[in-house]
Amino acid sequence: MIYSILDKGDDVSRALAARFREQADRLGLKSDDETPELVVSIGGDGTMLQAFHRFRDQLDTVSFVGVHTGHLGFYADWQKDELEELVRLIAEAKPRIVQYPLVQAEIEQPDGKTVHLALNEFTLKSVDGTLVAGVYINGELFEMFRGDGVVISTPTGSTAYNKSVGGAILHPSLEAMQIAEIASINNRVYRTLGSSIVLPKHHCCEIRTEENEPLIFSIDHLVMQVDHVRTIRFRVAEQKISFARFRPFPFWNRVRESFIN
Ligand code: NAD
Repeated sequence: MIYSILDKGDDVSRALAARFREQADRLGLKSDDETPELVVSIGGDGTMLQAFHRFRDQLDTVSFVGVHTGHLGFYADWQKDELEELVRLIAEAKPRIVQYPLVQAEIEQPDGKTVHLALNEFTLKSVDGTLVAGVYINGELFEMFRGDGVVISTPTGSTAYNKSVGGAILHPSLEAMQIAEIASINNRVYRTLGSSIVLPKHHCCEIRTEENEPLIFSIDHLVMQVDHVRTIRFRVAEQKISFARFRPFPFWNRVRESFIN
């Protein structure tokens, strides 16, 4: 299996990456940073998010595996003292490939459209305080949102920012996306649903804001300002991310290990 390593960039993850390469050389594994079959992320969940965005144009041919250098990560489920075992399994075993859904955002601006993919979530906030936005589901106005922002998450991202704002945890076998509110204003004048909603594949959530309102838009760990946005359309993406599982680690065990144990 041809591999590429993306490490967090600190001393611990760089040393682990060097250890990985040494053993991989001994076992005859080839590395290729342009068109690998397996991407090994060494660091934490943030490193896996970076690895995903680095290889998001090759999702049909690449699978991912994560090693964590700190506490157990949600995507980085191998520990540093298991590194040698992981390299041996990569050289000798055929992994089970599990595919998880992603969310796509299409941003419409006066000069055209751009399409983005998220592994965890997109968030939308206002630059100047309260976000005022129309939330449309399948073309019909669902609610007028006023508040800090919205989080549109994938099932695997449901354990990240979405969970912090009170969203539900979704199993990644569900091809769905979740829309959760961040501090919505609810009083006698303004009203939103007040809970998150889960949309299936082929449903579309559109968020429309005043065109002259600058927005803070985030894609996983990447945060940017977007201007003159007419509409952002969110839906479950056609593409999926593939994780290489060299041993079983069921989703609910990962949830328990990450949040309860
Ligand atoms: P970071 O360094 O701020 O870490 C955020 C934390 O989220 C880390 O503990 C990481 O392990 C955890 N995390 C990331 N993906 C996860 C997932 N799918 N399930 C469970 N936990 C997960 O930032 P980072 O490492 O660059 O990660 C970016 C992510 O941080 C964003 O995608 C977003 O989900 C999350 N975030 C969370 C909040 C919040 O909970 N209030 C706010 C901003 C960003």
